[in-house]
Amino acid sequence: MIKVDADLCLGCKSCSNVCPSQKIVCTDTGEMRSLHWKRCKEECDLCLEFCPGRALALVPYDESVPEPEVSFELVACKICQSRYATEPMLRRIESTLPANMQKDSYGLEWIRVCPLCRRNIEAQRATRQMVLRRSRKRA
Ligand code: SF4
Ligand code: SF4
Repeated sequence: MIKVDADLCLGCKSCSNVCPSQKIVCTDTGEMRSLHWKRCKEECDLCLEFCPGRALALVPYDESVPEPEVSFELVACKICQSRYATEPMLRRIESTLPANMQKDSYGLEWIRVCPLCRRNIEAQRATRQMVLRRSRKRA
């Protein structure tokens, strides 16, 4: 079965996405994300392999050990305020990227902006650039 080091877990839910037996249950309730690991005998190792935090270990099956559970508050997007990621996930991205890549060429702190807002901003910029190019061609 799986043992979880809650201090290393990022709350990224990669493990629950890859588990073929649905033994890892992730629940997002808007403001919070909880992960619950049911006792598993399969020991396929997939969750360990895909865990970026190296938070998981295989230990012998034991009915008396409580099933692990961790919870995280979800962080709000700086633009739309929708909650989209855990703080440890965002810190991990920030710690692995060089400082000059943490903001885009417009100075936007993109890591702290949700994927939907990022897509909208990029679409708006692309449209503006296209309009600008066309108006230059006409001039
Ligand atoms: S070892 Fe395999 S079956 Fe068990 S929780 Fe991990 S991914 Fe799921
Ligand atoms: S993959 Fe690892 S870091 Fe991500 S939620 Fe699962 S245990 Fe936590």
